Amino acid sequence: MELLKNELAEAQKIQKQSSMKTHNFSAGPAILPQSVIKEAAAAVQNYAGTGLSVLEMSHRSKEIAAVMDEAEMLVKDLLGLKDDYSVLFLTGGASSQFYMVPMNLLNENEKACYIDTGAWSAKAIKEVSNFGNVEVLASSKETTYNYIPKNWEVPSDAKYLHITSNNTIYGTQFHNIPETDALLIADMSSEIFSREIDANKFDIIYAGAQKNLGPAGTTLVIIRNEILGKVQREIPTMLDYQTHINKNSAFNTPPVYPIFVCLLTLRWLKAQGGIKAMEAHNKKKAALLYNEIDSNPLFKGTAALEDRSYMNVPFLTANPDHEAAFLEYCTANGISGVKGHRSVGGFRASIYNAMPVSSIELLVSLMQSFKPE
Ligand SMILES: *Cc1c(COP(=O)(O)O)cnc(C)c1O
Repeated sequence: MELLKNELAEAQKIQKQSSMKTHNFSAGPAILPQSVIKEAAAAVQNYAGTGLSVLEMSHRSKEIAAVMDEAEMLVKDLLGLKDDYSVLFLTGGASSQFYMVPMNLLNENEKACYIDTGAWSAKAIKEVSNFGNVEVLASSKETTYNYIPKNWEVPSDAKYLHITSNNTIYGTQFHNIPETDALLIADMSSEIFSREIDANKFDIIYAGAQKNLGPAGTTLVIIRNEILGKVQREIPTMLDYQTHINKNSAFNTPPVYPIFVCLLTLRWLKAQGGIKAMEAHNKKKAALLYNEIDSNPLFKGTAALEDRSYMNVPFLTANPDHEAAFLEYCTANGISGVKGHRSVGGFRASIYNAMPVSSIELLVSLMQSFKPE
């Protein structure tokens, strides 16, 4: 009898927790709009009145073909991409793009240039020498990547320049997109669709979906078509961008469900007013949080002021002894995912597109009411 009572109490506690809204500041997989999660859940039960779950539908069915087409169209529409681009939904994560880019673009005797702005850049750099030559033009590694290096030049013999436009771990962001005659490639995993950017200046943009677009399982790749077909090597079929362009991302079975959820997010983005509206929303959220970090003596930021990210906001407690207590205070008040990456320590608030201003206000209010012992 006593046991049953305890179990009941436990069940009620879980029930209460699951109906309580937890504010998700995780770096990735990350927050999605509540409306997207509801629609995604409904489609698992019954997709658009078909009597089938979206999980069990053929990627060759007309319904799923329409999902793929609309997702591609919305990416082009939101970014204002010209007609000479292809939009792909691939697998293998952003990490597979680290080698697919040089494999598809770089001949053995050619050179690729990289700006080393963090752990993800470093991982991308590591892959290049398997395919051609690599030159790291600048790096901020020595100061734990707390700024974006400036005043570097792309040599005239560079085939392409690769940047990580937003550095998820260190909270830095390129606020000026480099001008170069070389091809321009960007890993935009943690900032895609978050600010107005001239996408037509880029030759490849890639982004793992799980930061700002959808669930884990697919990677958005945007390619200017004419840059392909210029390497001598044999490219394995699945690793050749042209394969996926020719077959609209359905050469093999694509990750239908993650792509479907991306489509729901893309529709949501459009309904919010597109990227222009997102940028205003994101700047407002970032300003609220950075203002508190800068004005509250208990906290301090880690990234150089001029390079601060609108998406990932790392900060420390001024006194390291207060760190555990503030983390506990956040957790007790419904905030999840703010623990910093081990290489930076402290805290990191990831405040992607789907995060409402009210969640930032809650975090700020906790920073204000925090009373360390
Ligand atoms: C998370 C992340 C990656 C890795 O993405 P995967 O999809 O896990 O391979 C790459 N680059 C950046 C900037 C990221 O934030």
